Amino acid sequence: MEKILLLLHVNSDGSLPKAALEAVTAARDLACALPASTWTLGLVGAAVERAAARIGSCGAGRFLAVAGDDFAFPRYATDALAAETLCRAAEATLVVAPATSRWMRALPGVAHRLNAPVDSHAVGVEVNDGAVTLRRWYYRQRIEAVQTRSVRPWIILLDAGSFKPWSGEPSAPALEMFSVGVPDALRRTTFLGLQATEAGEQTIRPDAPLLFVAGAGWTKKQKDGQVHAEEASALILDFVRRSQCSLGSSKSLVDLSSEGQAVLPFLTHLHQVGQTGSTPRHPKGLATCCHGEEPHVVGWRFINERRAVNLDPNCGWARGKADVLYVADAFEVIRKVNELLRDYRT
Ligand SMILES: Cc1cc2nc3c(=O)[nH]c(=O)nc-3n(C[C@H](O)[C@H](O)[C@H](O)COP(=O)(O)OP(=O)(O)OC[C@H]3O[C@@H](n4cnc5c(N)ncnc54)[C@H](O)[C@@H]3O)c2cc1C
Repeated sequence: MEKILLLLHVNSDGSLPKAALEAVTAARDLACALPASTWTLGLVGAAVERAAARIGSCGAGRFLAVAGDDFAFPRYATDALAAETLCRAAEATLVVAPATSRWMRALPGVAHRLNAPVDSHAVGVEVNDGAVTLRRWYYRQRIEAVQTRSVRPWIILLDAGSFKPWSGEPSAPALEMFSVGVPDALRRTTFLGLQATEAGEQTIRPDAPLLFVAGAGWTKKQKDGQVHAEEASALILDFVRRSQCSLGSSKSLVDLSSEGQAVLPFLTHLHQVGQTGSTPRHPKGLATCCHGEEPHVVGWRFINERRAVNLDPNCGWARGKADVLYVADAFEVIRKVNELLRDYRT
């Protein structure tokens, strides 16, 4: 019989990250698919009552918690201690957790202490022929794998954006609190603060509703025979800041910087979407001045609604790769859209 433990950490303001609510859906579905299983929820944070009440009606049989100031912020030593305590208390055979940066750092160490395997980047956990399986992508090989393990306990980290966030009536559950003595040696690392990227232009922001992709066309000669890289920079940044979208790029555009050509200085390889870049999961995507070649578009496989602006009616997007292709000059389109956004905000 599987004993499922869903491990969640609580934000410093007492709320739960969106990835935690998605993991609740995953654990609940898994427990429903394994009728003989039990499922327990484990919470870690400074104060966990508010978070517990938020998900109190999710169906978990027990709610365990490790709480206190030592667990307010991410720190490997104390996070691993709390997670290990909860795994042992629940006698978990299957530990499921959202792949937040906090758990991605702490849970591999916990796995070592429990002599358990740990798998990350799971985008699905299911039951197939009675066996628990996870699904994950091997992007470079463009393979989706279904994997299982017989060893227990087994820890699975779920990628954000793979499940619908759980929502239900708030209800305060009976909490079983575990007091954990924290030796001074585990407090050697001090949490100073979080540095968030500015308005989403420095890296891809997974939580944004829209992914805006800039292609190499922004830096190519335009109809007047001139390159307009500075104007392209200004238009793109204005759009990103006004719409609060996430910024991505094609490989050609980020490669240009290393070749000394006219570039958009804020784009780096961290923005690259595609076969050798990232595979974001935004609900909508808008590609501009990007041809839509297969190695790029393969990175769009999880984007639900795809639109593109390109001068070329025969570009890759026109060949079934986009839902809507606007055959238009992206400079003109984005200039107009920025004007509309400016009017809309004022
Ligand atoms: C092994 C391998 C891996 C690869 N991995 C990746 C990857 O991970 N990601 C990736 O992106 N690429 C990848 N590539 C490269 C990919 O094949 C393409 O070369 C690249 O995506 C092209 O980038 P682009 O569309 O921005 O540029 P281009 O092909 O130069 O296209 C520019 C486009 O801009 C349009 N344009 C120009 N001016 C305007 C305007 N004013 N308005 C509207 N449209 C305009 C043009 O019509 C053109 O379609 C890979 C290639 C290989 C071989």
